[in-house]
Amino acid sequence: MYFCPLMDKKVRVRFAPSPTGGLHLGGVRTVLYNYLFARQHRGDFVLRIEDTDQTRYVPGAEEYIVDCLQWCGLEPDESPQKGGKYGPYRQSERKEMYKQYAEYLVKKGFAYYAFDTPEELDSMRKEFKTPEDPSPQYGHHTRIKMRNSLTIPEKEVKELMEKGTTHVIRFLMPENDEVSFTDMIRGEVKFNTHTLDDKVLLKADGMPTYHLAVVVDDHLMQITHIFRGEEWLPSTPLHLLLWERLGWKDEIPQYAHLPLILKPDGKGKLSKRDGDRLGFPVYAMQWTDPKTGEVTKGFREIGFLPEAFNNMLALLGWNDGTEKEIFSPEELVEKFSMERVHKGGAKFNFEKAKWFNHEYIKRGDSRMLLPYFKKILQEKNVQENDDRLLSIMDLIKERCTLLPDLWENSFFFFQRPTEYDKESILKKWDADKKQFFKELPAAFSAVESFTPGSLEDAFKSLAERKNLKAGGLMLPLRIILVGGKFGPPVFHIAELLGKQETLERIKIALRWEFMN
Ligand code: GLU
Repeated sequence: MYFCPLMDKKVRVRFAPSPTGGLHLGGVRTVLYNYLFARQHRGDFVLRIEDTDQTRYVPGAEEYIVDCLQWCGLEPDESPQKGGKYGPYRQSERKEMYKQYAEYLVKKGFAYYAFDTPEELDSMRKEFKTPEDPSPQYGHHTRIKMRNSLTIPEKEVKELMEKGTTHVIRFLMPENDEVSFTDMIRGEVKFNTHTLDDKVLLKADGMPTYHLAVVVDDHLMQITHIFRGEEWLPSTPLHLLLWERLGWKDEIPQYAHLPLILKPDGKGKLSKRDGDRLGFPVYAMQWTDPKTGEVTKGFREIGFLPEAFNNMLALLGWNDGTEKEIFSPEELVEKFSMERVHKGGAKFNFEKAKWFNHEYIKRGDSRMLLPYFKKILQEKNVQENDDRLLSIMDLIKERCTLLPDLWENSFFFFQRPTEYDKESILKKWDADKKQFFKELPAAFSAVESFTPGSLEDAFKSLAERKNLKAGGLMLPLRIILVGGKFGPPVFHIAELLGKQETLERIKIALRWEFMN
């Protein structure tokens, strides 16, 4: 049976996470691809919280997901928080809706009641276990031996139901059918139902399983495209059969299963543990495990810009067919295409990820960076006017990879050095140089405008007058102004320190023992 979607509807896509913990960068990439596709087609992007498995529910995880999406700038059009006309958007609040579909499937002969106890399931697994089949499934070759509405006479089933006997509803998987569909990334994908089991659709507590809920909700929410991780590919034949058995074959969405994000060495899926081991984040944002209190840092906390993070993620498994790597958010919306997403997994490379962030800081307008810089300065108890901050950032941003580097490359503008690398000065020190620095304040005071150009001129002509090479005097000046061998060009530093502070810092140095 081939499943072919109809494509004349308004595009509606969804991100459907289970709120179980931190949001892995693979999850954010799924959000991003959904979002880009929705924007490109002027469609809707829905956030649906899949919380039917109460045993896996983690408090705070939903709020965390919402915050992550907000930080990334990938906000949904409909969500539990925003509402929308297809709500509620939390599956636990839709509980009552699912049962009728499971019952409908039983009535139509596509599903059945199963009364097996956990012990009975256990002994089935033992009885049917063979070396070829070490964990036998509940399916076409075992279901006839089990206690279900296919094996128990109808009258007895009725009695069991009336007595309220614990039961589940299982899907009746056809024994030998071919299920095929066209995945937007992988092309035609075929499955034979022979190896598939009779999945539970409705649990004993009346809650749907993921498989039933996902299909019912995608239908009720009029979802047209399903973009999700490739780990869901094996579930797709069941989902397609459910669409068909529920009478919705003509509304089947288009599927694309996104490739995995792999460890840096390409060997297996990137996990949180790899991040801990190799020293980089795997979650978008910091996650605190409510049970253990364990805190896992995210890309946000180490100083990624959300735009850079998105750009990096977009390129993890996609390109536009050229060498281009930097895409503005608008360009991504315009250029992205699901058909160009690679089939194979994408290796995560933290150095490359940082390169994106560096490019965004370097190329970005300092005004865009201003709020981040101010936040850092606030933590350091530094207050400064915006114009000066903008000039400082213009000077240093190309040296910054992560946002905290803004401070690392500028702290000396806000605080006088407390330590000086005098050793480096003393390596090549003499009486002439000493004299030079004694006369430097006067030379700097005399410049008409305190700009890098005039400061450099004044510096060089003083050196010339003293028969000294200016080159050998620059390092001492730098150390005098900032304390060490770092920072942007030294006359730019002086300009931004301003006349008074520059002269003050030179005067402080003139009190050093080797200056006298
Ligand atoms: N709730 C599933 C998850 O946690 C959603 C899979 C899907 O998109 O169908 O990833």
